[in-house]
Amino acid sequence: MNLDKLLRENVKNLKPYSSARDEFSGEAMVFLDANENPYNAPYNRYPDPLQRQLKEKISGIKGCAPDKIFLGNGSDEPIDLLFRAFCEPGKDNIVSIDPTYGMYQVAADINNIEVRKIKLKEDYSFSADELLGQADENSKLAFVCSPNNPTANLMDQGEMLKLIQNFKGLVVVDEAYIDFAPGASLLPELDRYPNLVILQTFSKAWGMAGIRLGMAFASPDIIKIFNKIKYPYNINILTQQKALELIEQETEKNAWVETLLAERTKLSEQLKAFPFVVKIYPSDANFLLVKLHDARGIYDYLVENGVIVRDRSKVILCDDSLRITVGSPEENEILIEKLKELI
Ligand SMILES: *Cc1c(COP(=O)(O)O)cnc(C)c1O
Repeated sequence: MNLDKLLRENVKNLKPYSSARDEFSGEAMVFLDANENPYNAPYNRYPDPLQRQLKEKISGIKGCAPDKIFLGNGSDEPIDLLFRAFCEPGKDNIVSIDPTYGMYQVAADINNIEVRKIKLKEDYSFSADELLGQADENSKLAFVCSPNNPTANLMDQGEMLKLIQNFKGLVVVDEAYIDFAPGASLLPELDRYPNLVILQTFSKAWGMAGIRLGMAFASPDIIKIFNKIKYPYNINILTQQKALELIEQETEKNAWVETLLAERTKLSEQLKAFPFVVKIYPSDANFLLVKLHDARGIYDYLVENGVIVRDRSKVILCDDSLRITVGSPEENEILIEKLKELI
């Protein structure tokens, strides 16, 4: 893979915005360089554009050097940056599995990029050969979500490596739910594959969807490209501070994951017993995809009773299915009680 050739010409040639904090980032007695207000500390100061302290911390928990980490306003930001850096509008295309997370298509549409989709098999696995078969010389990105949303399954690691080894562009593996599938991350493979980009997030297992913090792991050369085109201060001070604080509570995160995994098993068994439940798909994530008789009817009934799940029945390969997030024991109990009133 030749990163320089993959990169859009305009991005290669542009001169990035240089902020006051880029020009000088050390300690000083007085800062009069950024037109900041001297009052209302610490919020008066612009945040570190490269989030150095936070990346050090994340580096510690992920075992990945800081120069291979990009932090974004949710995973949405690196997804969008991948398109803006590598895909020429109206010309290039990406390949992806179907069904999968909706943001890849949205980001592609915003950037006027064609999405070439291959339907998953009945068991929701994918074939690297099929994805590779869709690709041509304008295929710049391949998206694989593992565990996949909304099908909940991990993708086969051998197939993913085959894709990474043979695809001519970048392979983006979205691991938003990886904390619910211990040991399955491709992160240990990162150094072996210069065309691999791994997305993770603080929105799920870490319980921080509200602070908007997503991670991309890739070669330092790819990270440099993201940094070149991102908004200069893309992660605000409040988010950086809160994340630093909450990362200290990793044991609590692990306890949440344990609880949610136990609840997932329990919820799955309870749901199975209902006569209108047809099938519960195996899950490696914090949600269950459940096939029902009359998914829409049950969805409407639950909404009327104050319980909101996600109707996926119009999604390819998910007909008559609802996506149900595993909640707290109390929340899951309410769901089960409401469903019992139906029989
Ligand atoms: C929830 C989710 C994310 C997280 O997105 P953020 O922007 O980080 O909140 C990413 N990918 C998938 C597949 C998801 O389901």
